[in-house]
Amino acid sequence: MVTYGFVGVGIMGRGMVLNLLKTGNKVVVWNRSADKCKDVVDAGATVASTPGDVIKAADVTFAMLADPEIALDVAFRADGIVGAVSSGKAYVDCSTVDEECSTKIGAAITAKGGRFLEAPVSGSKKPAEDGQLIFLCAGDRSIFDEITPALDVMGKKSLFLGETGAGARMKLVVNMVMGSMMTAFAEGLSLAEASSLSQEAFLDVMDNGAMACPMFKLKGPNMSKGAYPTAFPLKHQQKDMRLALALGDKVEQALPVAAAANEALKRARAAGHADADFSAVHAVVRKGP
Ligand code: NAP
Repeated sequence: MVTYGFVGVGIMGRGMVLNLLKTGNKVVVWNRSADKCKDVVDAGATVASTPGDVIKAADVTFAMLADPEIALDVAFRADGIVGAVSSGKAYVDCSTVDEECSTKIGAAITAKGGRFLEAPVSGSKKPAEDGQLIFLCAGDRSIFDEITPALDVMGKKSLFLGETGAGARMKLVVNMVMGSMMTAFAEGLSLAEASSLSQEAFLDVMDNGAMACPMFKLKGPNMSKGAYPTAFPLKHQQKDMRLALALGDKVEQALPVAAAANEALKRARAAGHADADFSAVHAVVRKGP
């Protein structure tokens, strides 16, 4: 039986680990703040003291960490992944990072005889809990083939996109569109309100036309009340916009809409909404009554 490891039991990691456990898998976890492991331990996970201890105990170790700096730290710190990885072990990084980060971690793992797959996910808190994520995988195909059962319990679709970097780039492209869409939607709600239109009617029109989308339907009613319960932290969405814009710079692709949305997200971050849901961009776009 495969033993899975999991480093980073935050909003996303928690749901993913619970799904691995629900289907009878053995899972060893580590999280910086140990208290966040409570739910997964109650459901049967074992806690390790360091990220390195996780990879020593597991055949396949997943990571779901906040950003590139933290993914690199957990990989390269003294008691981290790279120092402890050995021949045949697989490391699957699901964190949303840039290609440079993924490539650096992948190269260090393979230099020690380990195997590396990047597997960022599309989906949010609820899809993570419901096993409905979309995995954007790239790197070592042998891992992708071997972990299909695990990906199938955590997600509804898994794509293999080629060499390391393709998964990271795809994830940034998708989240760049999402951040721009959310900012445009927040402006729509705000303009409806400021021009004396019913926001409920605006949501109804949006939901019945060609622009209907699950994200607007899910978040719109709360946004219209000024409520932004966290599913995807705004600080992570702004990080993704920043990384997507850097990718645009690198490949000389103009991204004027994303650049404007990034400025709104930065403003929301500075105004104290970093840990709120990314729909809180509405709070700084909105003119108010
Ligand atoms: P989260 O709840 O903020 O989780 C972040 C994780 O990173 C936690 O385990 C956190 O540990 C850990 N971490 C933060 N700083 C650290 C440090 N200095 N050293 C070690 N670990 C540290 O966020 P999340 O929503 O689960 O997001 C995780 C990743 O998934 C991000 O890359 C995000 O962009 C991506 N993602 C999120 C969503 C979503 O809708 N939420 C969807 C798709 C992809 P602590 O518990 O100790 O803080």
